[in-house]
Parts: sequence; structure tokens; C-alpha cells
Amino acid sequence: MKLIESIFREYDIRGTYPEEINEDIISIIGQAIALKCKEEGVTEISVGRDGRLSGEVLLDSMCNSIANSGISVANIGLVTSPILYYAAKKNASKSGIMITGSHNPKDDNGIKMVINDKPVSGTEILSLAKYISDSNETKKEIIKTDIIEDYINDVLEKISLNYPENLKVVVDCGNGAAGCVAPELFKRLGCNVINLFSEIDGNFPNHHPDPGKLENLQDLIKIVKKEKADLGLAFDGDGDRVGLVTEKGNVVFPDKIMMLLAKDVLARNGDGQIIFDVKCSNYLAEIIIANGGKPIMSPTGHFHIKNKLRETNALLAGEMSGHIFFNDNWYGFDDGHYAGVRLIDLINRSDSSIDDMVSKLPKSFSTPELNIYASDDVKFDVVKKFAEECSLDGNKITIDGLRIEFSNGWGLLRASNTTPKLVLRFEGNSEDDLKKIQENFINEFKRICPEIDPTMH
Ligand SMILES: [Zn+2]
Repeated sequence: MKLIESIFREYDIRGTYPEEINEDIISIIGQAIALKCKEEGVTEISVGRDGRLSGEVLLDSMCNSIANSGISVANIGLVTSPILYYAAKKNASKSGIMITGSHNPKDDNGIKMVINDKPVSGTEILSLAKYISDSNETKKEIIKTDIIEDYINDVLEKISLNYPENLKVVVDCGNGAAGCVAPELFKRLGCNVINLFSEIDGNFPNHHPDPGKLENLQDLIKIVKKEKADLGLAFDGDGDRVGLVTEKGNVVFPDKIMMLLAKDVLARNGDGQIIFDVKCSNYLAEIIIANGGKPIMSPTGHFHIKNKLRETNALLAGEMSGHIFFNDNWYGFDDGHYAGVRLIDLINRSDSSIDDMVSKLPKSFSTPELNIYASDDVKFDVVKKFAEECSLDGNKITIDGLRIEFSNGWGLLRASNTTPKLVLRFEGNSEDDLKKIQENFINEFKRICPEIDPTMH
């Protein structure tokens, strides 16, 4: 069996089933992960999967491969990624493997993993795959475990609401794995819950489970307005990202969600560090400083954010993609449904609605994430060339592509790690500033990289 190297990515492993990732390939990957476990002195590992159609067979193959390689397995079944991370935090070895395609097309599947409490990159697993040999280990046992109830009880122990029945919440699981936990979690929190698409269905018959795209939030917006709900929450396919809709039906970008949560977390703790990725608004850093905290900018990607969290022990971290990690009153992994609980808790303790809270944040003018097509072979070189040759005058941050901060806003160009595209975002203090910053940036891009079609999607 030959491994296709391109499925082993910087942050994780991902490919199309059955061509690029299938039972046999998962079995080899399982042996490589078992090697990593042995290196780290890990003797047991939790394994789970999301609701994709290929999930069950891949889960079985992974569990068998790991157990045959001499590592004990806790098979936690169909769960979200946060619940797998929770299971890993709770087992003695702090290790877990999630079989998930996240928000990617329905035929994709892949692996996110944490070994000895540290994220592991796909490329490291590929390098270990070269050393696997026929196992002469004694087969270890595979124990089926249900962890969802423990997770819900843990959240309820940490967060309790006053008169939660007065809070009306619409929850859209998009037929993804969040359906296994979110409806029950928000009901037991005591809220008045309206569930949308909570039946887990790997065909995703209603809309794709990716709250980062506005088209996938249209059903939620409609029902929040119709039901006069206080808020709407949406989750991606494996429940590690959250989308937020206000009672008026406005979508709150994740960097604004982070502004609300940063204020709350800093008020609870007095001071502390807060991490965010290069795609977030300048105002987020300003708000963190104004509330006594220390802002830390990180490259995009849960792998980098998780490592930064370990390094700094920050209170909170978040990405523009909607991954939010609480170290305050939680365990420091990205958890969409727990972030939803904290947003509900925030509204519950406040006299204001989410719309009022958002309207009090600094008014900024920003684009959503914009994309320019660039193939995987050239995208990193294009960004490197742009960063080296860019003559725009400002404070240049090069931790992930090039972000230039001007006196009236900022612009960003970076390469996506997961898809063949360049990622751009712009923000200005006024509509006019935004337009000028974007125009100057794009003109500079056209000058330096004339071979790339600058059409933005
Ligand atoms: Zn996800």
C-alpha cells in the first residue's frame, strides 16, 4: 500500500475517501501513531469519529491497528472533536485521535490528534510511517466508552445560569457531529432551545456544516428572526468551530466574538494573555490591552494556536475561522459548543442583548476573508516573494505571510495551509481608509506577482 504524501499536512491528515484515505491507509497511519505513542511513553489512547459516511469503517480500522500495535484503545464512538479532546485530557496518557473531515466536502475524511497533550503534525506521522514493521506485539484491548455524559456534567458543574428558560437559543448543527451533544447540552443548561438539523447525516442534506460561510447561516438567521430568539449558534462538522447570529439576525465575525469573550475573561481574572491569529481585527488587541490583558498574535491554524497556548498558558485563544479555546474554567482546547455555552452565560449575566454588546464595540470597516487562487506548488513562494519585495510603508509582521499595519488600518496576505489559495483580509478606520488600503495592497500584489490572477472570491 503506497501512501499519498499530500494527505499528510502541516496541521493534520486529510484526503478523499476511498481514493486517498481508506481502511488500509488508516491502518498504516495507526501503526505510525502507535510508534509515536511508544516514543512518548503513551500506553493508552482515546479514538473517536465524526458523522461522515466513511467514519465507522475508518474508526474500526484505526482501533484495530492501534491495539494490534500494543497500545490500549478507548473507542468513544461518534463524537465531536472537542469531546475527543476532552476524553484525551481525562485519560492518564492525555492522548487521542479524531477521525474527522471537519467542514470539508462530504467525501473527505482525515485525522486530528493529540499525543501526550501535544498536537502532532501530519508530516511527523508520515516520517514515522517509514519505520513501521510487522507487529509482534501482544494485541491490547479495545474498550467502548461513552464520554458525552461526563462532558455535559462537567460543563454544567462549571456554568449555571439564572432563569435560563427566559433565553431562547436556536442551535444549528448542520447535520454534523455536534448533533450528538449540542441539543442535550443546551437543553440541560435550561435554555429554551430550538434545534435545526441536529440529526447526524454525512450527506449534509440541508446546508454544508461550515459556519464560516455566510450562505450556511441563512437558515439560522431566518429562524432566529422568526422565533424572536436571543441568539443563534451554528457549529461546523466536527463541532470545534462556532458561528454566532444576533437576535436581529446579524452575523458576528469571530474576531468580534473574541472581543466580547476577552472582556469577560479578563474581568473574571484581572489580567492574563489572550492569543488570536493574524486574520483578526486590530481592535481586538486594543480591547485586550484596555481591559488589562496582554495580546499575542499567532500564525493561523489550530496547531500553532495550541502550541502557543501551551507555551504561554494564556486564558483564551481564538481564530478568525471560529476556533475558540478557553483555558479559563475549561481545558484549553478548541470547543465550539463550550464557546456557545460561554456566550449564553455572558448574555445571561448581562442586561444587554448581543446586538447591544456588539454595537458598543469599536466600529471598524473590514472585509471578510478574501481568496485568490494559487496552486499548492506555488502559493508559499508567491507569499514569500510578496513579503520580500513589498514596498508599502508600515509595521510589517511576518509570522504568517505578510500583515502590514498602517496608521489607519491593516492588510494581510498569507497562504492557506489547507487549500490551494491565498488568503487576504483588510481593515480600515473608515470606509474610505479600507478602500485605499485594499487598492494599494492589490496594486502592489499585481506589480510583484503578475503571474497570479488577482481575481478575488
Ligand atoms: Zn472543525
